[in-house]
Amino acid sequence: MNYDPIYLCFMLPTLLFTMFAQWRVSSAYSKWGKIRNSLNITGLDAARRLLSAAGNTGAVVGSGAGLANVRLAGVGGTLTDNYDPSKNTLYLSQAVAQNPSVASIAIAAHELGHASQQDEGYGPLRLRSMLVPAVNIGSSLGWIMILGGLLLNIIQISWLGVLFFSLGAVFALCTLPVELNASKRARAMLANNGMLASEEDARGVNDVLNAAALTYVAGLATAIMQLFYFISMVGGRRRS
Ligand SMILES: [Zn+2]
Repeated sequence: MNYDPIYLCFMLPTLLFTMFAQWRVSSAYSKWGKIRNSLNITGLDAARRLLSAAGNTGAVVGSGAGLANVRLAGVGGTLTDNYDPSKNTLYLSQAVAQNPSVASIAIAAHELGHASQQDEGYGPLRLRSMLVPAVNIGSSLGWIMILGGLLLNIIQISWLGVLFFSLGAVFALCTLPVELNASKRARAMLANNGMLASEEDARGVNDVLNAAALTYVAGLATAIMQLFYFISMVGGRRRS
């Protein structure tokens, strides 16, 4: 594709916003990753405490999903912590698992927030999981159809491509409530189990979780602006 100044105009504000959000995450993580939580527990300790409070004995009961059956495992890298609903496993990075920091308990609790959503059959999470295969196909097929339609001068193919591509924005739209709600659950779980023992703990957990939330807002803004760009590209072609 040719260099397109219109694309730059569309994407520059969201690119700057994305960079700001990433800077916020890394600065919050580097600050609160160095500050000990007042109970002096690691992310792994925190996860174990929260799981045992939810009735998880460490023994897998039947094929059950959710908090009571979550398994714990390690994962390489930094800020790679995640909960895999298909394996019902919480993966903690080494730093989160081993450091007794404020960031560690925030991240471990957030990921268990996703396990709790799974437990409950939280609607936006189910919708997002259902969209995954369609989004994977739609984002690559969408591109091909948009460009193919423009090359062949069959505008309907391009619009169909835009429709496929828009699944990515729908996915980002579902991701936002899923992530905000996981953080809300994390705060509640930590508070209910006496793990926000000081005002500083609460402030740090909030800072880390809010910074993470901003990256999902940036992701949504990027997906929407990309979609607008393709709509204007295909719409503009029809007029010319
Ligand atoms: Zn999350």
